[in-house]
Amino acid sequence: MSTVPAYAAPSARAPLAPFTVDRRDPGPLDVAIDIVFCGVCHSDVHQARDEWGGSIFPMVPGHEIVGRVSRVGARVAEVKVGDLVGVGCLVDSCRECGQCRRDREQFCQRGPALTYNGTELDRKTPTYGGYSTQVVVTEKFVLRVPAGLDPAAAAPLLCAGITTYSPLRQWGCKAGDHVGVVGLGGLGHMAVKLASSMGAEVTMLSTSPAKEADARRLGAHGFASTRDDGIFKRLAGRFDLLVDTVSVPHDYNKYLGLLRPEGAMVLVGAPPEPSPFSSFALIMGNKRLAGSLIGGIAETQEMLDYCGAHRITADIEVIPIQKINEAYERMLKSDVRYRFVIDTASLKGA
Ligand code: NAP
Ligand code: ZN
Ligand code: ZN
Repeated sequence: MSTVPAYAAPSARAPLAPFTVDRRDPGPLDVAIDIVFCGVCHSDVHQARDEWGGSIFPMVPGHEIVGRVSRVGARVAEVKVGDLVGVGCLVDSCRECGQCRRDREQFCQRGPALTYNGTELDRKTPTYGGYSTQVVVTEKFVLRVPAGLDPAAAAPLLCAGITTYSPLRQWGCKAGDHVGVVGLGGLGHMAVKLASSMGAEVTMLSTSPAKEADARRLGAHGFASTRDDGIFKRLAGRFDLLVDTVSVPHDYNKYLGLLRPEGAMVLVGAPPEPSPFSSFALIMGNKRLAGSLIGGIAETQEMLDYCGAHRITADIEVIPIQKINEAYERMLKSDVRYRFVIDTASLKGA
């Protein structure tokens, strides 16, 4: 076992502060990783502040991990010491149930082991995430980061990337489709990059008019300020697919009006509070309202390989861990362009 530096939320109301975690010695199938960068996801904020309920404290958040392999167990087959690898939201699952067998480990019927705010499969040992210098993960849940991608800018692919890639694939996003992305933050900016790389005509729907130039640079063809109610008339019936990444409650009915008949709106943003919606918003036009949770391990690797081939990474602001509480406050003000990434060198001696 090794004891390594980390940052933890001691409780829902306290700021994150220095902490240490014990990482197990790698077993025969385990990979020990020296974490180099870890992205900061809005889900880290929701969970560190117990906004979804059931949070486990102390909590070391972080599920957008990129690092170098430092040790491998005797039966590890594919990964070698020195490889650049990633770890996302999952660190294990039963591998036997129907969902695991169809590569949907996020829906493991016995419950997957989440990277943090969860437990290992023994259902006892707490898991601690990437706001630390090392992690030990079973090989099957270790992803390969394609050569040629900047390691810091690739970290957000492990959650923001897969969470937006998966619904685009599930709804068959293709050239000429009209795709609307709601909310230009970490997930939203990846959705814009990915959908436009697939040939879609992308419109950014944002509460922040100041982000228009960025949205266009990221690949959006159009931009609409959702503070202007007129856009809900002007763009009515336009979209084949809406990907909604907003982290706070908002009126889904209005956005459903933007879909063409049989169009779909996929929620990936996870506001803690429920929002009412009218059945008529769906009935009029056979519309679909759906949700999507990250992606399985095979799909996450597929996304990373796709991003490697298309040279897609996140737009990031690298921060030392000591700025994490400030970064959370800035995310809450929609002031992130477009993902904070922790340089874990700042943890050494923290
Ligand atoms: P983020 O970087 O904070 O981006 C959220 C964006 O939502 C903001 O940049 C802002 O965009 C918009 N927004 C914020 N406040 C708003 C308000 N009051 N009204 C309207 N829009 C507002 O967060 P993120 O990391 O992308 O995560 C977004 C959500 O997805 C979170 O709820 C997170 O927990 C969830 N999530 C879900 C999954 C999944 O598997 N489904 C995975 C990861 C994250 P504009 O300035 O453009 O309006
Ligand atoms: Zn996340
Ligand atoms: Zn399972």
